[in-house]
Amino acid sequence: MSQPPFIPVCEPYLCGKELDYVKEAITTNWISSSGSYVTRLENEFASYVGAQHGVTTTSGTTALHLACKALELGPGDEVIVPNFTMIASAFAVCYTGAMPVFVDSEAETWNIDPNLIEEKITPNTKAIMVTHIYGHPCEMDTILQIAKKHNLKVIEDAAEVHGATYKGKPCGSLGDIACFSLFANKIITSGEGGLITTNDKVLFDKCRYYRNLCFPLDGPRNYVHEDIGYNYRLPNTLAAIAVAQLENIGQLIERRIANAHCYQEMLKEVPGLRFQPKLDHATNVYWMVSCCVDENQFGCSRDQLMVDLKSRGIDTRKLFYPMHRQPALAKYGCAVEGQYPVTDKLSVEGLYFPSSSGLTRDLISYICDQIKEVHNKYK
Ligand SMILES: *Cc1c(COP(=O)(O)O)cnc(C)c1O
Repeated sequence: MSQPPFIPVCEPYLCGKELDYVKEAITTNWISSSGSYVTRLENEFASYVGAQHGVTTTSGTTALHLACKALELGPGDEVIVPNFTMIASAFAVCYTGAMPVFVDSEAETWNIDPNLIEEKITPNTKAIMVTHIYGHPCEMDTILQIAKKHNLKVIEDAAEVHGATYKGKPCGSLGDIACFSLFANKIITSGEGGLITTNDKVLFDKCRYYRNLCFPLDGPRNYVHEDIGYNYRLPNTLAAIAVAQLENIGQLIERRIANAHCYQEMLKEVPGLRFQPKLDHATNVYWMVSCCVDENQFGCSRDQLMVDLKSRGIDTRKLFYPMHRQPALAKYGCAVEGQYPVTDKLSVEGLYFPSSSGLTRDLISYICDQIKEVHNKYK
């Protein structure tokens, strides 16, 4: 294959009726959040993950914030949060005034290590937030057991796992409340957007209440507000895109999984690359094709591999930077050396390769050839 133009790490794959639905939103003059694609998306996505209620929001981040608000988290409360996650998980807790308390990952799946949770629980702990990382569900049975024992709520940050299942049950229906992102690089997208799913009618109502400036859910619009709320309403034009994406979610997930299998197969002879695994009782929807680079075996560091691939027109990204090292979170006093060895290792060795749903086998083969050439150069 001749050298293709620059290959991004991820781009949307708009392969269905996205344009038709956006056009309909515009021609019918329904572009605000009151349009019918918004309720359609809420109902259809909730039903897709086997939850009773769905709430759209403007982003995964605002979905997480609403979930924390709905659980009445606030100053003085502590929330268990994975140390290896996207920053929005921790920020959502901070927005409420509660304190995130970080827990290291398990080495195999990179998800929060359930064995390390209980030692971080105090009388102030109110909830456990889990992030199903890079497409693989967390060890939910153990986590739910701990939550039950200590009377804690469970929030799933499911931004990276649309359609993944744990022991046959979909992520988004496993805890008390779950949050998804519809950002452009997620498995289904509306460009920007978010979704909450829950089986709890009270949480459902609170999410809708806080999302809409605490206007009363029923009753007259007399502009009297009992609480401080937010405007996190998703417009109909964007919901239209996500409804079209949801119609193709099966194909979009299959393509992500096929990407991962392709890379794993084509690179299986290359030493020093350890891909995120899939455990027997779970599906991995491989939001991103991510792996760790063992410098000694591979021949060069993760960082050098990224530089070399970039010069060959291939974009990659580092895996997340640990929460306990985030300057923004320094006041939570968790920069303890050696307390998070798994996360520290992931942040030094981990990266993901181009992972768009629209990638072809030929293109992945080209990328893998380039990775092999880099390995041969340094080995
Ligand atoms: C993408 C992502 C978010 C944030 O979603 P936005 O829609 O970008 O606000 C939160 N958590 C995780 C784990 C994510 O991957």
